[in-house]
Amino acid sequence: MKIQLYNSLSRKIEQFIPLNENLVKIYSCGPTVYNHAHIGNMRAFLFADLLQRVMRTVGNYQVQWVMNITDIDDKTIRDSRIGSDAWLPEMGTQTKNPIDNLKKFTHFFTKMFFEDINSLGIDTNHFYSNPRATEFIPQMQDLITRIYKNGFAYINDGSVYFNVSKWSMADKYGKLKNIDWDNFKSGSRIDHDNYEREDASDFVLWKAQKEGEPYWEFILDGQSLPGRPGWHLECSTMEYEILGLPFDIHTGGVDLQFPHHEDEIAQSKAGYGIEPNPFWCHNEFLEVEGKKMSKSLGNFYTLRELISAGLDPLDIRLSMLSAHYRTKFNFSFEGTNAVRKARTKVQDYIYELQEKTENPTINSILIEDSLLDNVFGELANDLHTPKALARLFEFLNKYPADKLSEELKQQIFADLMKINEIFNVWKFEPRSQETIEIPDEIKDLAEKRFQAKKEKNFRLADELRNRITILGYSIIDKKDGYEIIPN
Ligand code: AMP
Ligand code: ZN
Repeated sequence: MKIQLYNSLSRKIEQFIPLNENLVKIYSCGPTVYNHAHIGNMRAFLFADLLQRVMRTVGNYQVQWVMNITDIDDKTIRDSRIGSDAWLPEMGTQTKNPIDNLKKFTHFFTKMFFEDINSLGIDTNHFYSNPRATEFIPQMQDLITRIYKNGFAYINDGSVYFNVSKWSMADKYGKLKNIDWDNFKSGSRIDHDNYEREDASDFVLWKAQKEGEPYWEFILDGQSLPGRPGWHLECSTMEYEILGLPFDIHTGGVDLQFPHHEDEIAQSKAGYGIEPNPFWCHNEFLEVEGKKMSKSLGNFYTLRELISAGLDPLDIRLSMLSAHYRTKFNFSFEGTNAVRKARTKVQDYIYELQEKTENPTINSILIEDSLLDNVFGELANDLHTPKALARLFEFLNKYPADKLSEELKQQIFADLMKINEIFNVWKFEPRSQETIEIPDEIKDLAEKRFQAKKEKNFRLADELRNRITILGYSIIDKKDGYEIIPN
């Protein structure tokens, strides 16, 4: 099926056509691993997962999906320092080497990130690559050198900046979001990674080393510039190195349109001479009480917190998918619980399809009611998950499982399995599950939790229980022990 997709660059819905025959290359801006991602961030990752699943399943394309890990920026450096409160015993011991501390710190939160997205049903098996910024420093230096040689960068006080006013004479700066040029001061510089549109200024490509911070040697134009890369530069480099330019689609939250994505376009064109990608897809915010969920506003929940509060990650997944990705989504506990009922309804239908019907009365399905065509048709229309779900429920109401002939049951079961390749929230085993082997990692965590409880370390015991839930298992406490069951 052909896919229609909203392109933030043209501000229109367009028919998607891959650049290379049947292959779709997608780059998604990934997490900054300085803490547990909040569920607002999760919406962005879930959207990228939805897109790649629709490309594979509805579009029948092969997909190369890359999501980077930002493992160096102001916050990862701040929180991995000696004496930081954010350092946890699980990360190991800190040393005098800041790069070593940064590595241990970010490795820990990268592991947590993958656990989180796995439990949200994000398809981690299908990542083509998850590059870490710190593994591409020489390649980043190469891109800076190209931009500098092409005349669009300058050195100031040991840092390297992108010259926006010079670039804007060569190409349009402000393709994704219009720039407020009235407030633009040529030559004013911005060092931090995120800034508002009103502050449009020359942005940093390479930051001069600060005392006690991790740094790499860099020689540019005969000058020694020990330092580290700027955030925007990281993505431009990894896209080029891993997917090659141009690739098909770039994803991220709407807040990344400016400056991050605007700066990526400028860097790729000024350095490699190539527009990075024709399609830009951005998800809207997840909000709480009408405000963007964010760490800085302090109105955020991590997935682990929601699980401790009793929510099931798959209900969170389905509730996010019940809103279109380009509309704001208001997170609430009540909303998530309501979605649970809807999820259970489909699950019960799937169980019933596997049970014997006494007196089937439905032997055929009207052509216009074709489940797969209708659901996939909505997904092909700019990934319209709420309409796709509405089609699914219409079908279930019109064709109750206990009235279907055996042949129809098999066909619908197969259709639902295919639909679940997108939604990924339902199970297809019979109601009574076979016993499942519990992995050693889970057994080990459960035993540690049991010991922690015995030692009355309830904080650690709770944390471990959370971790076990995230990994897809539950602990049932018994009189002298516990039982582990899959969720
Ligand atoms: P960060 O780790 O801050 O770079 O963010 C990772 C991703 O989450 C980016 O694509 C952001 O645009 C996205 N994001 C951040 N906050 C929200 C939110 N409240 N709703 C949806 N996406 C968000
Ligand atoms: Zn990025």
